[in-house]
Amino acid sequence: MVARPDSPKTSYAPLPVFRARGPPREVGEQLGERFAKEAARAVEIFRKELTWEKGATFDGARRYGRKILPRIEAWYPDFVEEMRGYAKGSAIPFDTLLAQWSGHSPSAGLKGCTDVAVGPEQTADGSVLAAHNEDYTPDYDGLVAPVRVAVDGKPEFFAMSYQGLFPTIGLNELGISLTGNAVSPNDVRVGIPKMFAPRRVLEARTLKEALEWAMPAGRSSSFNNIVCSREGELYSLEGSATDFEALYGAGGWLVHTNHYVGAKMLRYEADPHAKFCSILRYNRARKLLDPSLGRVTPETIMAIQRDHLSRPDSICRHENPADPEADRVKTLFGSVLNLTKGEAYISGSTPCATEYRVFRFGG
Ligand SMILES: [Zn+2]
Repeated sequence: MVARPDSPKTSYAPLPVFRARGPPREVGEQLGERFAKEAARAVEIFRKELTWEKGATFDGARRYGRKILPRIEAWYPDFVEEMRGYAKGSAIPFDTLLAQWSGHSPSAGLKGCTDVAVGPEQTADGSVLAAHNEDYTPDYDGLVAPVRVAVDGKPEFFAMSYQGLFPTIGLNELGISLTGNAVSPNDVRVGIPKMFAPRRVLEARTLKEALEWAMPAGRSSSFNNIVCSREGELYSLEGSATDFEALYGAGGWLVHTNHYVGAKMLRYEADPHAKFCSILRYNRARKLLDPSLGRVTPETIMAIQRDHLSRPDSICRHENPADPEADRVKTLFGSVLNLTKGEAYISGSTPCATEYRVFRFGG
C-alpha cells in the first residue's frame, strides 16, 4: 500500500546539533572553533563568487564592510560581538567575515527557495508548521549546520546556519520561527545587510518584536522574511530596501517563493523575466498543498519538498549543467519546523535523496 502524503511517519533518527551558550563573544568563539573548517571553505567560495560579480574585489568588499559596520553595530551590537568571537575561534579575520556577509551575493535572486507555512486551522493535529527548502550555490552543500544557541538573557533557538553563524531558518524556544526567500529588489542601497535580520528575529520574545526586527529601517536590501508564531499567526514580509508588504496567512496557510506577489511590491521587482522558476514553484506548491488543507502533517510538506515537476528547476532543485557556474543552484536541505511541539525536521541534502532527521527542544 502506498502511504498517503499526509500519513505521519512514526520515527525519525535524531539530528546531531552543536550547542553553544554564554555571553555573545563566548558563543561566537564556541561556534568559530567548531566550524573553523566550514568557515575557511566558505571564504574560498566567497573569493570565487567575487570573480563572478563585475567590478567586485576582495579589498572592495572589505572596505564596504568597514563602511557599514557602525550601522550594524548601532542596530545589533551583541551579534557584532558574537562575530568577533567567531573570528577568534575560527581564525578568520573579522573584516573578512564582515566582507563576506555584507551583501555581495551574485545572482541571489535566481537562487531562490520554496516556503510553506500552515496554521492550526489546517493541520491534522492543530500544530503550526513552517517549512523551507534551502536552494543555493551547490558549493555550500554541507556548510549549513544545525546549531542550538543560547545567548545569556535571550531566548534559546535552533537554526540551520551558514558555517554555524548566520541562520537561514530557525525556531526559538518561545515558538517564533524565521524562514523565508530571496527576492530581487531594484532599490538596493548602502545599509544594514539582509543577513542580519533573520538572526535577530530568532531572539524575539513576542511576535511584534519578530516582525519589527525582520524589517530594520536603514537596511540595504531584504529577504522575504516569513515570521510565524506558536499561536498560528503567519506573516510573509515581502521586503525591499525601502519598503515592505506584510502578507498574512488569513486562511491558515501561505506559500512564498522568490517573486513579489504583494500589489505594493510589484514595482520593486528588478527583472520579472528572470522569475519563471519562482512562479512555477509557487503555483506548484499551492496546488500540491490544497488537497491536504485541514489535515496537513510534516509529511505532507516533505512530499511537496521532494516534488520534481520541471526538474531540474523544480521545488526539489538540482544543478542544471546548462546554467553558467554563477547561476547554478540546488536544494541544500529541506526543513519543516513544528512551532507547537518545538521540533525541526531537516533533510541531509536534497529532500528526494536524503532522510529527514529530527531535533527536539525537549529531547
Ligand atoms: Zn530532488
